Amino acid sequence: MSTKRDYYEVLGVSKNSGPDEIKSQYRKLALKFHPDKNKSPDAAEHFKEISEAYAVLSDSEKRKLYDAYGHAGVDGKYSTDDIFQGSKSNFEDIFGGGFDSVFESIFGRGGGFRFGGFDFGGSGRARGSDLMYETTLTLEEAFRGKKEEIDLPRLVSCDTCSGTGCTPGTSARTCSVCNGYGQVRTSRSSGFSTFVTVQPCNTCKGQGKIIERPCSKCKGSGKQKTTKKFSFDIPPGVEDGEYRIPGEGESIHNGTNGDLIVRIKIKPHDKFKRDGSDIFYDANISMIDAALGKDILVDTLEGQERLEVKSGSQPNTIIKLKGKGLPHQHGRGRGDEYVRIVVNVPTKIDRHQRKLLEELNDTLDGNS
Ligand SMILES: [Zn+2]
Ligand SMILES: [Zn+2]
Repeated sequence: MSTKRDYYEVLGVSKNSGPDEIKSQYRKLALKFHPDKNKSPDAAEHFKEISEAYAVLSDSEKRKLYDAYGHAGVDGKYSTDDIFQGSKSNFEDIFGGGFDSVFESIFGRGGGFRFGGFDFGGSGRARGSDLMYETTLTLEEAFRGKKEEIDLPRLVSCDTCSGTGCTPGTSARTCSVCNGYGQVRTSRSSGFSTFVTVQPCNTCKGQGKIIERPCSKCKGSGKQKTTKKFSFDIPPGVEDGEYRIPGEGESIHNGTNGDLIVRIKIKPHDKFKRDGSDIFYDANISMIDAALGKDILVDTLEGQERLEVKSGSQPNTIIKLKGKGLPHQHGRGRGDEYVRIVVNVPTKIDRHQRKLLEELNDTLDGNS
């Protein structure tokens, strides 16, 4: 994502730094910005940023992906939870266990991690819905990668009431049932035990206040829908599938954002077939050219290329153009292009041509 800082820059290490240097640099920064020790307001955000950078750079596979495709490569494959959970042992190396409690304070979900879209073990904090964005790419776009700019729906404070939800000039009154707490406690005694239950207040729907004259624009919600421009990079070599961009989904009051799920479809190509990072291409030549040999022009993803068809080439011969496929999605280098030689036999011949072919056939008798 374009808004994220470079992970190497965040940790203050170079691209060639080894695992030990990265670890000791993170340890130094983590001690400085740990929210238990550092009370400045943006320490937590900073701690999260360096921790994410360390989570990726301390994991050789994620680091490789990051080096090749930047944030888009890592975010496209891993959710935030996968990034942290996958590097858990590297953090425990530094914090000596207690991984969950360290991150509880940062992510505010009680150390519970989300798998496959389910929240469990967390503090039950509300989470906005995931947003789905679908886009179709040509094979050429998939080959080069593409920058997409989209309008994401966003909830922001209502500009008529400045987010209060009340008609301008009026204000909400505190709910008298819950005294503004939004919750009601009921206790019930049974023998020596007392059961206490806490439930959202019905009168104010858990808001703690009652709006008598709701703002006409937002109907009392204090929010209005808007859109924000959001751009992200689709990495070169991308395949059909779904990619998750954490935190760019729907926002929710007092909760965490959902994720943006980008569903990518690659349009079928009229000349190339694709299998992973390899592409397949049919080159048509006449049976005469196949017999005599010929230099032909074949299409590649980067324009035309000269290819030598050797004399006596058989139908369906496959010629490999090394490194002319798409970039590998996970890892370095490129796939190959496979050119299949399709030999065309003429379907209509006139009398003269027939005579020539028969003469040719006579000369070939015995050696074909
Ligand atoms: Zn309003
Ligand atoms: Zn109430």
